[in-house]
Amino acid sequence: MKNNRFHALQQAQNREEVLVELPSVKVSDYFASMVFHDEVMQNYMPSDVYKSIKNAIKNGTKLDRSIADQVASSMKTWAAEKGANSYTHWFQPLTGATAEKHDSFFMPTQNFKSIEIFGGDALVQQEPDASSFPNGGIRQTFEARGYTAWDPSSPAFIIGRGNGKTLCIPTIFISYTGEALDFKAPLLKSMAYLEQAALPVVNMFDRHATKVVATLGWEQEYFLIDEALFYARPDLVLSGRTLIGHAPAKGQQLDDHYFGTIPDRVYQYMLDLEQECHQLGIPIRTRHNEVAPGQFELAPMFEEVNVAVDHNQLLMDVMDRVAKRHKLKVLLHEKPFAGVNGSGKHNNWSMSTDTGKNLLSPGKTPRTNLLFLTFFVNVIKAVHENADLLRACIASAGNDHRLGANEAPPAIISVFIGDHLQKVLDEVVSKVKSGKLNTEKSDELKLNIHNGIPDVMLDNTDRNRTSPFAFTGNKFEFRAVGSSANCSLPMMILNTIMANQLTEFKILVDKHIKSGDDKEGAVLKVLKTYIESSRNIVFEGDNYSAEWAKEAAKRGLSNVKTTPHALDFFISKKAKETIVKTGILNERELEARYEIFHENYVKKVQIEGRLIGELALDYVIPSAIEYQNKLIQNVTGLKGIGAKATSYKTQMTIIDTISEHISAIYSNTEKMIEARKKANTIHHMPDKSKAYCDIVIPNFELIRKHCDKLEQLVDDESWKLPKYRELLFTK
Ligand code: ADP
Ligand code: MG
Repeated sequence: MKNNRFHALQQAQNREEVLVELPSVKVSDYFASMVFHDEVMQNYMPSDVYKSIKNAIKNGTKLDRSIADQVASSMKTWAAEKGANSYTHWFQPLTGATAEKHDSFFMPTQNFKSIEIFGGDALVQQEPDASSFPNGGIRQTFEARGYTAWDPSSPAFIIGRGNGKTLCIPTIFISYTGEALDFKAPLLKSMAYLEQAALPVVNMFDRHATKVVATLGWEQEYFLIDEALFYARPDLVLSGRTLIGHAPAKGQQLDDHYFGTIPDRVYQYMLDLEQECHQLGIPIRTRHNEVAPGQFELAPMFEEVNVAVDHNQLLMDVMDRVAKRHKLKVLLHEKPFAGVNGSGKHNNWSMSTDTGKNLLSPGKTPRTNLLFLTFFVNVIKAVHENADLLRACIASAGNDHRLGANEAPPAIISVFIGDHLQKVLDEVVSKVKSGKLNTEKSDELKLNIHNGIPDVMLDNTDRNRTSPFAFTGNKFEFRAVGSSANCSLPMMILNTIMANQLTEFKILVDKHIKSGDDKEGAVLKVLKTYIESSRNIVFEGDNYSAEWAKEAAKRGLSNVKTTPHALDFFISKKAKETIVKTGILNERELEARYEIFHENYVKKVQIEGRLIGELALDYVIPSAIEYQNKLIQNVTGLKGIGAKATSYKTQMTIIDTISEHISAIYSNTEKMIEARKKANTIHHMPDKSKAYCDIVIPNFELIRKHCDKLEQLVDDESWKLPKYRELLFTK
């Protein structure tokens, strides 16, 4: 095979769409058929066992061992009936991916007899040999062991691959000393903390609520490309993004892909994926084409945050597996292609009570509207106080290419609330200032606050697609999260800052009440000070504009564009007060994460550096020389027949231009290698990752520029790497 690109193109173009066989029943007939959910539990467990486990889930109490044995036994019976013969603790180490280590239910007894067994011990706790997971130094100092512990609040499920089926038990991952080695343990803590802080506030308005949960509805963006073309691009295979590639004549400028007809192959893929997701209880409801060619999105119905996080992690796995059946590759990288949009994972976040109230949904009565305003304003205030932490928690090597690339929210954190709510807040301020609140309370509460919000709201919000953190009618949408990210971290931060904020709020309100204010008056007074003190974080304009960057600087908002610098916010005094003092992470856990995120950044950039060197030297330059030789042959031939110099003038120019680009590529690659060597002499973080960011990465663009020029210049036949046009438009 002389040129792999053409071979790949031929394969891609000759693909038949793989028709998916759909069950002849409704989705609701098989939804969650592979999940050990509430109804299944009731059917498979004695009622006292069922009650104990429900109680443990609701109140976070410990399960008795004998109860755990019975739970395990019923889980095994159910799983065996579904055809599973092994189980795994399923966890989320700090790699960002999920991890599993399968064990068999089968257990030999005596004389070659055997049984199927799954006891409470195996359900509750496991000790995977996990010494190779990132731990940021936590496990070297004490004990090398890591434990997974069952999280009963997220239901077990069965993953099937071909005929093999495995029972998966969601777990947290902790060290021998109890420190979190994963994303989930701190998320669970933050949920409990939020509940504890939010409930007293909710109870001021609704005495019947006994539970508050954070809810998450993620929207997952992704690219799909043909498998053969994917494998013909070493950069996509190893780094998930194209490191070189000239922009195609047509990109997304015609906006003809967005919400367009879904291509046939992709549609079959989506049906296949959704079917598998539905069996796993992932409530996917929405699918559509996204802005960039080859880009798509899917979104579920929102769920309680930890289940939603698990479902998103699971989804990313399933997406990849299902794609294989369709000879497609899913790209979850934040910026697989320069010049067209990258991918995000909007995190729609809200809170709700067990009395069925969404706390960020404007109510119809004065009382419920004040509840809404309370939570709404406290979110704004929390973001105002902790914008830097929110910036840090979405930082990754991939997301750096997206934030601020004039297509995704910028690296400046701000909140969009829309004109209508802005007016409502202004009114709160002026009413409180006028000081009439205590005397005419119920009338005062009618302000504009209580009239018309629900109706106008849905029309008036969500117009601003450029905001990193937008109020969209009944939830906040954190749009700056990267497409490959584990949602746990941003959710953990949001829960935590909100909990801190609500705690402070309640103290202030109580103070006012003590000094004689009635409840409504006290609430409005505190809200008024919050509205005033957090004005700086609210921005309604175009977040992509240069004016906003200037304005934000004036307002004192941070604009940190790269990961190694943004990560510094994690170890600031403020972050420690927010995260460590509240016990969500201890100091070592926080520092370990800081270390791991830097390491991860360095490794990713290191891989990209090696790759771009390899592409330049092994693919681009040889292609250019091949074409140059053709030109030389042509010139030699023309000279041989005595042609005039003018007839090979253009060829000579191209020959020279090619040489210039080759030499520029070569010298910039050398420079990049030198920079890498220099960065590698630094051994501690964050200096090392900052060196990679500040002195290694800038060379990538220089190398790329000349490679892309050559792509344009070199004859199509000599070019070895699939082009953007082919990657993005082969359907
Ligand atoms: P879009 O933002 O594209 O207009 P939707 O309004 O349908 O789309 O919402 C997108 C996501 O927001 C969905 O996953 C949806 O479930 C989620 N969502 C809606 N309400 C809430 C809520 N109260 N809490 C968390 N997520 C929510
Ligand atoms: Mg949205």
